[in-house]
Formats: sequence, C-alpha cells, structure tokens
Amino acid sequence: MADNSAELAARLRLKPGKRIQLDEVDPADTLDLPGKEQAQRGLEKNVQHIAALQERLFAEHRRALLVVFQALDAGGKDGTTRAVFSGVNPQGCRVTSFKAPSAAELERDFLWRIHHATPARGEIGIWNRSHYEDVLVVRVDKLVPKAVWSRRFKQINLFERHLVDNGVEIVKVYLHISREEQAARLRERIATPEKRWKFSPDDLRKRAQWDDYMAAYEDALRRCGTEHAPWYLVPGDRNWVRNLAVSAIVRAKLEEMDPQLPEPKWDPSVIVID
Ligand code: AMP
Ligand code: MG
Repeated sequence: MADNSAELAARLRLKPGKRIQLDEVDPADTLDLPGKEQAQRGLEKNVQHIAALQERLFAEHRRALLVVFQALDAGGKDGTTRAVFSGVNPQGCRVTSFKAPSAAELERDFLWRIHHATPARGEIGIWNRSHYEDVLVVRVDKLVPKAVWSRRFKQINLFERHLVDNGVEIVKVYLHISREEQAARLRERIATPEKRWKFSPDDLRKRAQWDDYMAAYEDALRRCGTEHAPWYLVPGDRNWVRNLAVSAIVRAKLEEMDPQLPEPKWDPSVIVID
C-alpha cells in the first residue's frame, strides 16, 4: 500500500483557531479508507516505521515527542496506545495517565504535575489525559471558578510553546466517539468480567453531562489548536479507523522530525578490536 500517512494526518489536523462543531463531525467516519483488512496492514506498516524512527530519536538524543490523548470515558485512549505503540522499545517510551490530582498536586499550579511528566530527550511521551482535563472536567464539574479555568487556555498555549521551543514536539489527539458507541462500550465493560474494573459509576454521571463536555472540548480544540501544537480530530467509533489514523499521525510527525543518528566522536576506520 502506498504510504499516505502525511495526507491522512493533514486531513485530520485542525486549523488553528477554527471553530468546530462536534455534532457535525461523524464519529463513525471511515475517512475513505479502502476497508478493514487494508487498514490493518497499514497499521502494521506504520507500527514498524514508528519503531524504527523511535530508535533514531533515542539515538539522536536531542528532541522528544509528546503525544497527548484526550477522549471521554471509553473513548479508546488505552486501546489506541496499545495498537499504535506496540512496536516501540519500552526503554524509549513513557506513558503517563493523569487521574484526579492528589492533595499535594492541588497545592501547586495545575501545570506542575504536567511539566514533571514531560518526556526527556530521545523519548516518546504518551499522555492518557493531560492538562486539558483542567479545562474539561474541571470546567464541567465547576471545580474552580470560570475566572480561573478560562485563563488556562492562554497558559496552556504558552506552556506548550515553551516545550516546543525546548525540543519537545507535540501532537494532540482527540478521539471522538458517539453517545451510542459510548453506551455500547460501557455496557460491554459491565457485562465482561475482565473489563469490569474499567467501569466506574462516575462514568454515568459524566455521561449525563455529555453536552457540557462537547462544549468544553469545542473550546479547548479551538483555543488551544496552534501551529506549534496542533490538535487532530480522529473519528473514534471504529477501532480500525482510529488505530490507522493515529498511527499515521504519529508516523508522519516522526518522519517530519527526521531524527538523525549521531556522528561518532571517534574515527571508526582506526578502531581495531582484537
Ligand atoms: P480514567 O482515565 O478512567 O482512569 O479516569 C481518570 C479520572 O481522573 C477521570 O475521571 C478524569 O476526569 C479525572 N481527572 C484527570 N485529571 C483531572 C483533573 N485535573 N482534575 C480533576 N479530575 C481529573
Ligand atoms: Mg475510566
């Protein structure tokens, strides 16, 4: 299959500052992909490329890649991480899941714990939720006043600018699922003993706030979609579409970064190992 990762990524990339209406975006979109089997082969190819590029990024040891995943409960953050990063060397990759902040974290500014989890040079950092929760759940549940959360869009943009200027490239992915698909996945979680641990009764409280979450996501996508740290909107109802799309985004980003193997600081031609 000819590689069209860059085109697929470009198609899913949101224009900075553009207003978006999520109820007009089809979560079951198949993005004109030829079909499930071919998408699976495309995913495998992308996984191999990501693995090879990650080796080079690690060897280069100059820059990092940060991949941020945001979605509602059962939106597919874990499954996408598993599918897209299955080939990478665990040594060069760090996954951080952000839960409700601890008492100690709440004593600091909201970016304190976030900055601490930033990937080091050579690493790929994968964030399962992120600082965006501070303008999503925090806003919807009114955990801080509007005067506080509304200032955070600008603070987030400045923080991300700072990371990019210091060698941390950023892609942000919002996995867009439908209410119906979320219901099906939550029901399956409850019905399957192996998946039950993933369910929390709090998921239903959040589900009831669906429209508030959509409004909060629309603002976050618009106000924090920037040239230096763009958002990608990925249809999430079909796992095969989602996995191929995210693998294309990550592959295209790593290819654009084009990590270089370091030149040895010694002359290989004069080294003799006896
Ligand atoms: P899960 O991803 O299912 O393990 O759930 C993690 C929970 O932590 C979610 O309900 C998030 O909304 C919550 N969470 C993450 N970050 C924050 C935050 N900054 N403030 C409040 N809740 C948060
Ligand atoms: Mg959960």
